[in-house]
Amino acid sequence: MDYTPIKKSNIDQLSVEPNLLNLQKTREAFKWEDIDRELDGLEGGGLNIAYEVLDRHVETSNKDKIALYWEGKNGETETFSFHDLSRLTNRFANVLTKLGVKKGDRVFTYMDRIPEIFICLLGALKVGGVIGPLFSAFGPDAVKDRLGDCEARVLITTPKLVPTAHEILEDLPALETIIIVNKRGRDYDLKDKEVSYEDLMKGASDEFDIEKTDKEDYAIIHYTSGTTGKPKGVVHAHQAIMGHYATAKYVLDLHPEDIYWCTADPGWVTGTSYGIFGPWSNGISQVVYEGGFGAGHWYRIIEKYKVTVWYTAPTAIRMLMKAGEKPVSKHNLTSLRYTCSVGEPLNPEAVVWGDKVVGLPFHDNWWQTETGCIQIANYPVQDIRPGSMGRPFLGVTATILDDNFEKELSPGEEGHLALKKGWPSMFRTYWNKQELYDSRFKGDWYITGDKATRDEEGYFWFVGRADDVINTGGHLVGPFEVESVLIEHPAVAEAGVIGIPDPLVMEVIKAFVSLKDGYEPSDDLIKDIKRFARKKLHALACPRKLEFLPGLPKTKSGKIMRRLLKARELGLPEGDTSTLEE
Ligand code: AMP
Repeated sequence: MDYTPIKKSNIDQLSVEPNLLNLQKTREAFKWEDIDRELDGLEGGGLNIAYEVLDRHVETSNKDKIALYWEGKNGETETFSFHDLSRLTNRFANVLTKLGVKKGDRVFTYMDRIPEIFICLLGALKVGGVIGPLFSAFGPDAVKDRLGDCEARVLITTPKLVPTAHEILEDLPALETIIIVNKRGRDYDLKDKEVSYEDLMKGASDEFDIEKTDKEDYAIIHYTSGTTGKPKGVVHAHQAIMGHYATAKYVLDLHPEDIYWCTADPGWVTGTSYGIFGPWSNGISQVVYEGGFGAGHWYRIIEKYKVTVWYTAPTAIRMLMKAGEKPVSKHNLTSLRYTCSVGEPLNPEAVVWGDKVVGLPFHDNWWQTETGCIQIANYPVQDIRPGSMGRPFLGVTATILDDNFEKELSPGEEGHLALKKGWPSMFRTYWNKQELYDSRFKGDWYITGDKATRDEEGYFWFVGRADDVINTGGHLVGPFEVESVLIEHPAVAEAGVIGIPDPLVMEVIKAFVSLKDGYEPSDDLIKDIKRFARKKLHALACPRKLEFLPGLPKTKSGKIMRRLLKARELGLPEGDTSTLEE
C-alpha cells in the first residue's frame, strides 16, 4: 500500500475554515497568556474548571444551548443545556458541602457513563474537591488501590456497582460517605455510610458560590500504570483547563455549531480532558453514549445526532474496519467533517480506511495522562502523513533525546520522546510520590517514556514504549499490577506478565506462571486463575493468555526478567543475559 501524504493543505477542500490556518505562523505568535485571557477566571480572582466549562456560558447566548445529548444503553435519551448543568452541579456542590466535603478532599466516581457522572464530577470541582473518575469495569482491587492511595473521602456509585465497594470497605478507613445514584430506580436499601443522591439533590439549592480555587490547586487525579509498583495518581491542577480549551479549539478544531462525540470513558484521561473539559470550555454540544462498542450502534449515533467532529481510538477504528463497509453503507454519515484518534499508534491502513470509507482520514494525535492535553497532532490544514503522530502543538517543544537524556538527536534517529517542561496542563505530581515525579524530568525536559523518531519536516513517529508497560486497546497496564493479583491465587508461586502483539488491540496480555508444590498445570486451572484475575482487575488488565512454566527467568537479585520472557515468546534475540540467575 502506498502511504503518500493525504493532502489537506488546500483549505478550500475543507467544509469549515479551520481555527488554525497556519501552524508555523500561529506558533510564532502563540502565547499561553492569550489563552488565559480567553478564559474567564472567577470573579475576584482564582480559576475553577467547573466555572470555565459551565457557568461562564450561562452569562452568554450559550445559556440554553444543549451541552449534553445523552443516550443510555437501553435507548433512553436525555438532554441538558449549559444552564441545566450549571444548576445541577450547584445543587450537587451544596449536597457535598452538607456532607462536610471541603477543598482538597478526594471525591471519586465509579459508575457507567450516565449524566450524573458529569454532574458529580463538576459539582465536586465547585467545592474545590479533587476528583477521581473510575471505570465501571474496575474490579475491587483496582478500586481499593486507587481510593486507598489518595485516601478518598467520598465515593459516588450505583446499586449495580456498590457490592464492589462493600468488599473493600474495611480497607478504606478514610472513606466516609458513599453516595448512591439510583438512576434506574432499582430496589436498594442504603447501608452504613450510604446516602441517596436523589434524596439529597431534591432538597438542595440551585445557587452555589464556587470555591475560589487557585490555578495551582489540585483538581483531578487519574491513575496510570508504570513498570513497577501499583498504579500512580497523576495529579492535575485547575490550570490544566488552559490546555484542554486550546487543544480542543485548535486540534479538534471545534466550532460553535459542531456536534462533537468523544467515545472515551471519563475513567480515562481522554474522557475527562476531551469528554468534558475541552468541548464544554469551548461551549460545544456533545453526545455521550452509555453503551459499549458496536459498529452499527456507533454509526447510528453519528447519524442520529448529526455528529460533526468525532474523536476515537485506534482499537475502535480497527474494530470498525473489521466490521466491514456494510454497516457503514446502512447509515448516513455525511454530517461528519473531522475525525481524530488517540491512545495507541494509528496504523496507516486505518487512516487510509477512514479516508476511503467515511470520506475523512483520521487525524492522529499523541499525549498522555501526565501531559493532560494533546502535545503532538495532525491538524486539519496540514497534509497527514499516515502513521505519524503529527507535529507539536502550539507552545509545545518536543524533541528526541539520546539514552543519557542529554543530547537532542537528529531527524531519523530513534530515541526518547521528551517535552520541554512548563505547559499549563503538565501534571503537578504523582500523589504522594514526589521522588518518582522528579525522576521523570531531566534538566528542562519531561521524559515521556515513549521512544520515537522525528523526520526532516518535524513530524513525529512513534516507535514503542521505553519500559514494560503494556498498551492494550489504548489502555496502559502495568505488568506488576497484574502479577500482584496472580500471585494471590492459591496455586500460583510466581508470575511474569508481558504484552504480545495483536493486530486489533495492539497488545494482549500474556502471563507466565509457575505453580506451588502440589498443583498441576491444567486447562481448568488456567480458567480458574483467569476468573480469579477478572474478579479483581479491570477487564482489560486480565491476561488473555496464560502459560505454565516450571520456573521464571530471574536476575541474580530475584527480579523476574520480563524482557527475556518476551524475547523467548516472540523468538527474538535474548540480548544480555549476564544477570540471569543460574
Ligand atoms: P495514557 O497515559 O493512558 O493516555 O497513555 C499514554 C501512552 O499511550 C503514551 O505514552 C503512548 O505510549 C500511547 N499513545 C498515546 N497516543 C498515542 C499515539 N497517537 N500514537 C502512539 N502511541 C500513543
